[in-house]
Amino acid sequence: MKQGHGYCNMASAVNVKIHAMTKYDAIIIGSGQAGNPLAKKLAGAGWKVAVIERKWVGGTCINTGCTPTKTMIASGRIAYLVKRSRDFGIHLDGYAVNMEDVIRRKNAVVLSFRESTMKGLLQPANIKIEFGNAVFTGEKEVTVTKEDGSLSTLTANHIFINAGASPAIPAIPGLDTVNYLTSDTILDLLEVPRHLVIIGGSYIALEFGQLYRRLGSEVTVIESNAHFLSKEDEDIASELKKILEDDGIKILINARVSQVSSNPEGIRVDCTMPPGSYAPEIAAHSVTGSHLLLATGRSPNATALNPGAAGIHLDEHGFITVNDRLETNIPGIYALGDVKGGAQFTHISYNDHLVVYKNLVENGNESIAGRLPVYCLFTDPELGRIGLTEKEARAKGIHIKIATMPAAWIARASETGETRGLLKAIVDADNKKIIGAAMLSTGGGELMSILQMAMMGGVTYDRIRDMVFAHPTFAECLNNLFGSL
Ligand SMILES: Cc1cc2nc3c(=O)[nH]c(=O)nc-3n(C[C@H](O)[C@H](O)[C@H](O)COP(=O)(O)OP(=O)(O)OC[C@H]3O[C@@H](n4cnc5c(N)ncnc54)[C@H](O)[C@@H]3O)c2cc1C
Repeated sequence: MKQGHGYCNMASAVNVKIHAMTKYDAIIIGSGQAGNPLAKKLAGAGWKVAVIERKWVGGTCINTGCTPTKTMIASGRIAYLVKRSRDFGIHLDGYAVNMEDVIRRKNAVVLSFRESTMKGLLQPANIKIEFGNAVFTGEKEVTVTKEDGSLSTLTANHIFINAGASPAIPAIPGLDTVNYLTSDTILDLLEVPRHLVIIGGSYIALEFGQLYRRLGSEVTVIESNAHFLSKEDEDIASELKKILEDDGIKILINARVSQVSSNPEGIRVDCTMPPGSYAPEIAAHSVTGSHLLLATGRSPNATALNPGAAGIHLDEHGFITVNDRLETNIPGIYALGDVKGGAQFTHISYNDHLVVYKNLVENGNESIAGRLPVYCLFTDPELGRIGLTEKEARAKGIHIKIATMPAAWIARASETGETRGLLKAIVDADNKKIIGAAMLSTGGGELMSILQMAMMGGVTYDRIRDMVFAHPTFAECLNNLFGSL
């Protein structure tokens, strides 16, 4: 054991019961979407692996991210469909939202995912799960503080950091005086807010915003950027904005929150808005809600790891810096998933583990460079996105053709009453290859994935235009979308 480390002092302060030190082939910090599959693969290759997790196996995706939100969004969709049931000739006597049941259903799905993750990690005899908080106490040394205060020190030549990110708390005057919600805490709210005010206008904000609107809340979204969904093309962003506004969500753009305070009606959020962007219904640029949700991005869980003890570099935003092979500046130490910065998605984290595993164990030469941006915004309709936007393609000077089509032209959309949305594909005019797509439609994520396959296989747009799709699927819209070129 190294001498003079902080944990020795900590040990006496918390009345340490056990202080073991164990050598592993690999230590994985964080049981996230890269850490778990990597642990199982390395164990399969004969490595002795330790997974350190401070809370729940499965990390954000399973416990507080994708799984709970999409499960709750399914409840919101049922409420939406029940409300529309007369449009389909089904007359109901009304309905009630029971938030306890919504949360209970969500918890059951989360628990089942968490349990099966745990089962998967427990199966190989050469994986040891250590529950506790990990910090670096040396270059290849990690100390874990367990719930009972005991410490254990682990060493390994290979350390994989998959510690994820947490809701960012913006520095807004007065925030510490109100009871705000984050994407973590709102998941356990047992009531439907009368008026949910959301600071932030990105995908987490919009998914929660539409969910609670459907469950019966008044919802106001406050976005500081001058453009709604500024990373997307304007036609797609404004189509989605219109859909959300038609659902009754108020969206303030170009609104900077200057202060938050409590008043007898609830939580008041004051904004400064440049002339011209003033929304008449927002009296004196302020909005008072019963609940406030912060959805202003996610901060990496890197500093708390004491990365300095290992000499690991962070960037100016606190993310661990890595190269295209996910190697940190310290040989043998890697960072995967949200903690390394860049796009924060489960599929990115999962793919990170493949890059690292193939390079280390299969003598591969994998890299994250050139990985196609791909994601789905799970509003209803969904926005499935792949590759370049039109504005990105134009900025790169690519000679492009743009195919667009309203979702209302899809036969199946009319038949199912899901006509909202807009489809768009960006094609390289010189070689007919698809270089990007935005599928804002029911099933938009699946439509986008079809185009993703085409992009990977180099299938040109004219072949998809002339392809035989089964009628009436949503996918057959690709004939007409590319027929528009
Ligand atoms: C509300 C919400 C909705 C989302 N929806 C989607 C979606 O639909 N699709 C999608 O692709 N992505 C979605 N995401 C993002 C997605 O959840 C993450 O990108 C994904 O989980 C990848 O995370 P990760 O593997 O980097 O780490 P995580 O899954 O965050 O895991 C990190 C783990 O490390 C543990 N940890 C951290 N520090 C320590 C420490 N010091 N010691 C021990 N353990 C530690 C944490 O407890 C955690 O379990 C969503 C996120 C949120 C918040």
